[in-house]
Amino acid sequence: MDNRSDIWRGVDAIKPRFVDLSDRVWAMPEVCYTEARSSAEHLAELRHQGFRITENVAGIPTAVMGEWGEGGPVIAFLGEYDALPGLSQEAGVAEPRPIEAGGHGHGCGHNLLGSAALLSATAVKDWLAAHKVPGRVRYYGCPAEEGGAAKTFMVRSGAFDDADIAITWHPSSFWEVAVTPSLANTRADFIFTGRTSHAAASPHLPACAIRSAPATCPACTNWSGALTRSRRGQR
Ligand SMILES: [Zn+2]
Repeated sequence: MDNRSDIWRGVDAIKPRFVDLSDRVWAMPEVCYTEARSSAEHLAELRHQGFRITENVAGIPTAVMGEWGEGGPVIAFLGEYDALPGLSQEAGVAEPRPIEAGGHGHGCGHNLLGSAALLSATAVKDWLAAHKVPGRVRYYGCPAEEGGAAKTFMVRSGAFDDADIAITWHPSSFWEVAVTPSLANTRADFIFTGRTSHAAASPHLPACAIRSAPATCPACTNWSGALTRSRRGQR
């Protein structure tokens, strides 16, 4: 069954509300885990569209989830709404023009990302409702994509355990279905501790913390190289 024209008609019918939502989020740029107003805007739209609401997903105050429907597969749409520091910008201007010098801004387009993901979730649930097709549609409002890794904590909390598919998108200057893998990152902290001893009586017993630090650098380089190869399925 080709339902694309049906879905596109549904998207066009509800589009203006989501353009407005995107514009409002653009005008209230909030960074990494401080997206109180932006997540509240998404929450209000979820309520308006008839989704069942879960707040504080994974114990994160700005993570929200809306679910609609019964039975069938769980179709998840992932949205974001966090801004970036130092990218304050007047809308509709193709050159740097900060509204507030050094202020936050939506340079990555997450105002669009969250709003259009919520639009997609709404269009799909409207289509399921109109055609009486069983299925659950979820919108996950994911905070702190820029440097906060909120989705990691949401995954760990089990928020996606029963999702059959998770779909998202990102604004860009061209249109494509992205199949390119992107780099993940991890972090390691090292603490160097030494051991003191009497320099004259027991000069053979001390352990110098500073000396082990330079030796750690090449070890880390080898380790990160091995991580990259294993991520690519090489040995
Ligand atoms: Zn982004």
